[in-house]
Amino acid sequence: MDLKNIVDEYEMILVGVGEAFEEKMDSIKENTKLSGLALDYSRKLYFENNFSRIDEAYEKLSKILENKNYFIVTLSRDDKIYKAQLQNNRIVAPCGTHNALQCEEVCTKDIYPTEDYKEKILKGEDINCPNCGKPLVMNKIGIGKYSEEGYLSQWQLYTKWLQHTLNKKLLILELGVDMKYPSVIRWPFEKTCYINAKAKFFRINDYLYHMTEEIKERGVGVKEDPVEFLRNQIV
Ligand SMILES: [Zn+2]
Repeated sequence: MDLKNIVDEYEMILVGVGEAFEEKMDSIKENTKLSGLALDYSRKLYFENNFSRIDEAYEKLSKILENKNYFIVTLSRDDKIYKAQLQNNRIVAPCGTHNALQCEEVCTKDIYPTEDYKEKILKGEDINCPNCGKPLVMNKIGIGKYSEEGYLSQWQLYTKWLQHTLNKKLLILELGVDMKYPSVIRWPFEKTCYINAKAKFFRINDYLYHMTEEIKERGVGVKEDPVEFLRNQIV
């Protein structure tokens, strides 16, 4: 399947990037002495400096989407997608990022650039919320409370972009999205396809590739590892 050829036939491209694109943490050798923010910071550095098959897949995606009118919703929190030559203002990451910190208790929704605290984190110092004094943690969805402030401005751009897809030739590309957060990508993407008669839906997934009854006329399920699917594209 030549994705570039397909993409070029459409005016707008909506891309969903799922769990399959998040680096598996248990495959990474980690410093067992680290915990909390220091551990998360070491992961951030790992994501930035390690070039993996997932980075290769993003580079292919960036070439396929070059000069196209696209928007990407990603469930990943590892920020790897920003390393490829994609336009950052066309990406929203509602599950968070390692590039910002938040109060553990979300006493305010405020977020703080991680890089501002780099020296302190590397020295192993505690970083406390300027408002309540509780620890600052990475601004990502996970075990504790989550401040959604970090992605809201991008989300607004995304919803505006989505409004413009109505009656347009829209290609929906869902890559490795599982059922952990179906209300972020899977269900709304299906709805977007359902209400747009000019939309086409490709669902690339190695096991959850089936299309729903309502959109099966316009949908294609491809049973394939989505990372390999992109890596194997010739662009
Ligand atoms: Zn606080």
